Amino acid sequence: MTSAFELAARAGDDADRGDAVAASIDRARADTHSAILHVDAAAKTTATRGRLVGVPVVVKDNLCVTGTPTTCASRVLEGWVAPYDAHVVERLRAEGAVIVGKANLDEFAMGSTGETSAFGATANPLDPSRVPGGSSSGSAAAVAAGIVPLALGSDTGGSVRQPAAFCGLVGLKPTYGRVSRYGLVAYASSLDQVGPIARDARDCALALSVIAGHDPRDATSVDVAREDGANDEWVAAVSRGVRGLRIGVPRAFLEGADPDVRAAFDEGLRALVDAGATLVDVELPHVKLGVSVYYLVATAEASSNLARFDGVRFGVRVSGKDLVETYERTRALFGAEVKRRILLGTYALSAGYYDAYYVRAQKVRTHIREDFARAFERCDVIATPTAPSVAWKLGETPTDPVALWLQDLYTLPASLAGLPALSAPCGLGAHGMPVGFHVTGRAFDEATILAVAGALESGLSGAASVGSVPVGSVPVGSVSGGGR
Ligand code: GLN
Repeated sequence: MTSAFELAARAGDDADRGDAVAASIDRARADTHSAILHVDAAAKTTATRGRLVGVPVVVKDNLCVTGTPTTCASRVLEGWVAPYDAHVVERLRAEGAVIVGKANLDEFAMGSTGETSAFGATANPLDPSRVPGGSSSGSAAAVAAGIVPLALGSDTGGSVRQPAAFCGLVGLKPTYGRVSRYGLVAYASSLDQVGPIARDARDCALALSVIAGHDPRDATSVDVAREDGANDEWVAAVSRGVRGLRIGVPRAFLEGADPDVRAAFDEGLRALVDAGATLVDVELPHVKLGVSVYYLVATAEASSNLARFDGVRFGVRVSGKDLVETYERTRALFGAEVKRRILLGTYALSAGYYDAYYVRAQKVRTHIREDFARAFERCDVIATPTAPSVAWKLGETPTDPVALWLQDLYTLPASLAGLPALSAPCGLGAHGMPVGFHVTGRAFDEATILAVAGALESGLSGAASVGSVPVGSVPVGSVSGGGR
């Protein structure tokens, strides 16, 4: 399959590269899906060498890009202009990529639909009446709409993988510590990772090889010794096949998925078995507690991280008669979901409840990590669907917050365990919408999950994937490749 990057940045011809970027900027400006919050109309590169020369990229608007607004889709940060580049942005630029815009998201990356953005919801380009998933909603929509071949998102509990699934794309959350969080506005620091969203596994692998690497400015960045060329193993891994690979399937955990999702997932498993993989039943007894654990740990960390938005240090200040009233008036700008999480997290960390909630959640988090360690004695990767259903209609999101949080059940365990995981398309479910196949690997074994994504692509011959469609030509309202 021709890489979408190659189409965007036809090697050897500077004029073509400039044209590809200009065309992307035009498409971003004309964006009918509300995927992009800010367009950088002057974006260009002077690089002539690099792995991404002339490739237009959008990054989620919780990543700092020098001189551009970084709002986190919140009124609280409206008008705040980043004074520096995030590490991942530096890396992209160093390889010649051009940052053409900032993508819409759920406010402060809290959500699963894009609908908590203070600047309006993003539509799913495959069916604009539906949500694109979230919280990296604009990143996924921008790729699915053909505005750019690559976008970066952030994934705390599934925010790269689930929108990739809802939009028929490949999205990867790296092992915790693989990619620097420097310049990513923190939501829940022990879970946050930046990850790529692209049309196919190969582009995802290439993007990962660009953004990964040690950064002393992030204390949790892991110094995995890598020769420069060694990163190419990820691109090569995509076509290495899955012969002999043992795929763990936690059968009991699959019961939460809708029948159409289950059918597409089974089809994915069949394709992998046809390619020489074997299926192994595994048990992950504690993952069913993942939603409870995540929404305690993540909200606790968020309540601490978001304390800095006080009207004094960043962004908007709504002055009151004294400092306390200034805090109150400024923080009134947070949206309902963000306020809910700050309150929940503050409660979980408060003196009388710390042991009962936060400490207990951390203990169960350890059990979840141990479940994975035990399962990986018997298998090489673990497969589930990415989400229990396909993308639903805009405005039909459950109003009960817990009902919505429960939709994250398949993506949260890998986040809590710090493991690499990706979502790749495995066919179509209800309403012709794509279904994501979720693969979790051992720590720092991104290569093997990329091999699985590659095998799914060849085994399912692109069903439900938009990967084979040239940039800019994705028809709205249909998924190229058709049904099965
Ligand atoms: N849906 C999850 C949440 O709302 C995941 C968000 C994320 O990964 N940023 O917290």
